[in-house]
Amino acid sequence: MSEQSTEHVDIAVIGGGLAGIAAAHVATNSGFSTVHVAPSGAPDARTSALMMPSVKFMQDVGLIGEPSSLGTPLAQIRIIDATNRMLRAPETLFTAQEFNLDAFGWNFANTALSAAFRKSTPDGAPLQIRNTTLSAAQRTDGIWHLKLKDGTTLSTELVVGADGKQSKTRQIAGIATREHSYAQSALVCDLALERPIGNCSIEFHYPNGPFTLVPAAGDKANLVWIDTKENLLAAQADPERFQSALFEKSQRLFGAIEPLTKSHVFPLSALSVAKAGNNGIVLVGESAHAFPPIGAQGLNLGLRDVADLAACLALVNRQSYGWADRLVAQYAETRAHDLMRTGHFVDGLFKSLLSDLLPAQALRSVGLWALKSFKPLRKFAIEFGMGRN
Ligand SMILES: Cc1cc2nc3c(=O)[nH]c(=O)nc-3n(C[C@H](O)[C@H](O)[C@H](O)COP(=O)(O)OP(=O)(O)OC[C@H]3O[C@@H](n4cnc5c(N)ncnc54)[C@H](O)[C@@H]3O)c2cc1C
Repeated sequence: MSEQSTEHVDIAVIGGGLAGIAAAHVATNSGFSTVHVAPSGAPDARTSALMMPSVKFMQDVGLIGEPSSLGTPLAQIRIIDATNRMLRAPETLFTAQEFNLDAFGWNFANTALSAAFRKSTPDGAPLQIRNTTLSAAQRTDGIWHLKLKDGTTLSTELVVGADGKQSKTRQIAGIATREHSYAQSALVCDLALERPIGNCSIEFHYPNGPFTLVPAAGDKANLVWIDTKENLLAAQADPERFQSALFEKSQRLFGAIEPLTKSHVFPLSALSVAKAGNNGIVLVGESAHAFPPIGAQGLNLGLRDVADLAACLALVNRQSYGWADRLVAQYAETRAHDLMRTGHFVDGLFKSLLSDLLPAQALRSVGLWALKSFKPLRKFAIEFGMGRN
């Protein structure tokens, strides 16, 4: 790699998803010269239920303004066991009010978040955005030399890998992973309901996975339907079959349901890393963790990565030699517990939802009975889901 034409910056953020844009924003706001390597792609059709701590973080660092200008509040969560198994769980309702909250969180379209995040970095901030990908990297004397697909090169002290599940930066950093693919996929699309769900998120638990309606204002809802890939593709291929599946899966509670957008199917997998940083590289978002979309944990965890990155950046003395390695060690240590507990929680919950084994059914039913009736446990579950304990 030629050294002569190479631009030097403090930080290079690789990946243009929500975790990457948020990381580039906090790096720039902390006063670091930053290049964001963010290839443009198809608009992200997903929506994100973000819990109050994530919403507060986004507001505190200036990524978004008032959430009401972008999304819909989530004031209730209703869980319905639709499995017809021998041991069924009772219907359980959580209301934000019982925890003295106005809402558990907010539901946003990812495209709306991405546009708001991009607008949030002020003109004149030390941020350059490059519409390309990282193709190769090598590190010499504590400096990363990056080769981009558009033929340009960069050098930098710190690389932030936000390049998703197939992360190249993770591979370059030499960070080991544990990965597992599920037979299930998730189908998402926007719906109009004859009888609106208000601000209540409704989860129907079926043997192949949950069918969830997330409030999206007025008579609209966002669907996250987890099922086998074959079932989802078959429903997707036949509009009539799709519409009747929506009606039946929602147990006819909301009348006729009309798809408003094209549906998209996402394969599901779990991924965890041995550590969240190594060798002058930190990982944020799905480059560091992936799991099925249950309990709304994915981007919430990604934003907690970015919050910890911001906290580590705030402590850095850029004049001192080796600051990036010290930051990476501190970041990896700070993130270890949260990554482990959230990964185990979601994986365990997902497997228990799918299990046909009687002990797992019994545990789930007893768990939901306890959650329904035992206030301290309800509080613990909500705090845990919000990432607070
Ligand atoms: C169906 C579904 C519903 C979900 N719902 C929720 C929810 O309600 N709440 C929640 O918190 N989470 C949810 N999630 C999880 C959430 O969507 C993800 O955690 C989040 O979008 C991941 O963002 P990211 O930026 O880490 O990764 P990505 O969005 O995958 O972005 C990675 C980026 O890196 C880029 N890239 C890849 N390789 C390179 C390279 N070599 N150079 C440069 N760039 C590169 C890609 O082009 C892409 O832009 C859901 C997930 C699914 C599948």
